[in-house]
Amino acid sequence: MVIENYITVRKGEDNMSNASDIKELQENIGKLTGGLMKAFEQVSFDYQKLQTMHFALLQELDFCEIIECSKCRESVMRPLLKALPLEDGCPMCGESLSGYETPTQSTIEDWDNGVGADESE
Ligand SMILES: [Zn+2]
Repeated sequence: MVIENYITVRKGEDNMSNASDIKELQENIGKLTGGLMKAFEQVSFDYQKLQTMHFALLQELDFCEIIECSKCRESVMRPLLKALPLEDGCPMCGESLSGYETPTQSTIEDWDNGVGADESE
């Protein structure tokens, strides 16, 4: 629709019709921008909802830890999943979180080698 109007403007024969076409084009661009903003808001809302559910599930299954950043004092929840490397940077300020790992913190390599599991053989 916007492109059609643009082509019409380009082909306009007199300045009066060009002016009204440009105004219509501007209105259509405004409508398009408004529609895109609403779509982005909806996607953002759904993403936040999904992220909340994701972390609630990880917490319920005990596959995450909550630690406090030494720099900004923000509580950081990070996933403890074999398939993912342990995130070291604070998402709020970028400070390293490695100093706050517990001494018994399992690494991905430990999990792969069976270290840290309470399995007696
Ligand atoms: Zn921080």
